[in-house]
Amino acid sequence: MKRLAILGAGESGVGAALLGVRKGYEVFVSDLGNVAEKYQAELNALGVDWEMGMHTESKILNADWVVKSPGIPNKAPLIQQLKSMKIPVVSEIEFAGMHTQTTCVGITGSNGKTTTTMLTHRILKDGGLDVAVAGNIGSSFAREVAVEDCPYAVVEISSFQLDDIVTFGPHIAILTNITPDHLDRYEYLFEKYIESKFRITMNQTEKDYLIYDDDDEIIAEWLNKNKIRAQKIPISIKKKLNYGTYINNQSIMISITEERITIPQDELALEGKHNLKNAMAASTAAHLLKIRKESIRHSLSNFEGVPHRLEKVKKVDGVAYINDSKATNVNATFYALESVQTQIVWIVGGQDKGNDYHELLPMVNQKVKAIICLGIDNAKIIDTFQNTVELMAETHSMQEAVKIAYQLSESGDTVLLSPACASFDLFRNYEDRGDQFKDAVKKL
Ligand code: ADP
Repeated sequence: MKRLAILGAGESGVGAALLGVRKGYEVFVSDLGNVAEKYQAELNALGVDWEMGMHTESKILNADWVVKSPGIPNKAPLIQQLKSMKIPVVSEIEFAGMHTQTTCVGITGSNGKTTTTMLTHRILKDGGLDVAVAGNIGSSFAREVAVEDCPYAVVEISSFQLDDIVTFGPHIAILTNITPDHLDRYEYLFEKYIESKFRITMNQTEKDYLIYDDDDEIIAEWLNKNKIRAQKIPISIKKKLNYGTYINNQSIMISITEERITIPQDELALEGKHNLKNAMAASTAAHLLKIRKESIRHSLSNFEGVPHRLEKVKKVDGVAYINDSKATNVNATFYALESVQTQIVWIVGGQDKGNDYHELLPMVNQKVKAIICLGIDNAKIIDTFQNTVELMAETHSMQEAVKIAYQLSESGDTVLLSPACASFDLFRNYEDRGDQFKDAVKKL
């Protein structure tokens, strides 16, 4: 019996354990931290050997395969040791991919992964395919393969998960964009992060597709310099393309087969330029999988969005409150500020991942009337914007932040929570941050 050691007992680790058991491995799960109660119960029910608060090396170093949680960096001593012993250390995505024949749409990028994943899934499902959604959101891919193994799967994939793939390649890859994020994990080298994202295409063949944002200079430049096997399908909102998906007369135009498809922009339920791109990518993938045009249009006009992503919470005294807690980097916040058409009271800050806020300056100058910093260390934000915005406040509590926002805003304004930072300094995670925002707004 082959031995499978799994490091990290979160959703991906437990999914891998489930799949490992079903595929006949002897499974051992080890988590250096705490394991959530629901996962403890699941591991017990599965009857696998597991531990938390430590790594018992003797049970790990004798494995034939190791699946590592995306949260564990490669430079961790145990990982280094496994690598020096030539024991394959793979991500849960790779492990799941090894055990399925599903037609996979794999979605990666710095921003827009979840939205594009949910949207693609919705279009394919409405279009009649037996399709699962998995990956970085909801169920792990391994769990999906273990439990359902649908003929089609839309999988959201982070760069960390791509770092440890070996053979995995989706039939259709979508690369939404590449902007600096998580640089702390890539030795602060943007090039390394770029290479990591492009791993999505490294195992694709001539029969596969890479859908990508051709307006993104980083992506376009990389594709100019590097050869890939997959068929390239560009998307652009700036230029007309002979081949690809672009905007013509306020409509999305998909021009990759003889059957051209047009979708009027005003039919899209989601707002903002970034969501237009997400919709273009999702509908291009759906078209490649032969979903009918009417069906694609119908799904796009009915998709109401994903919580914590430019989520409209409520209007109070004529002021709109928007929860964009998932904006954990500068680029996501850029699109949020861009998509709001009124004066903004902006709640920003949190755990900085090596941010450079300067690209926001013109927009902040034009639209932001007040900034409320909600982080433990706000020095960089204050430093960047203090000469641009007169009203600035600092707080460590969401309730307080919303109260200040209420006082500083007037009818017609928008209060926007779009932090550009991770949430872990003051909140459990971005959902907790967004939920606290929504609660505070509802209590106004
Ligand atoms: P991810 O899963 O990659 O983090 P989400 O769909 O959860 O992406 O969105 C994260 C943040 O990025 C949200 O604030 C959202 O409004 C913004 N966003 C969504 N799509 C895009 C895009 N294509 N480009 C830039 N920002 C985007």
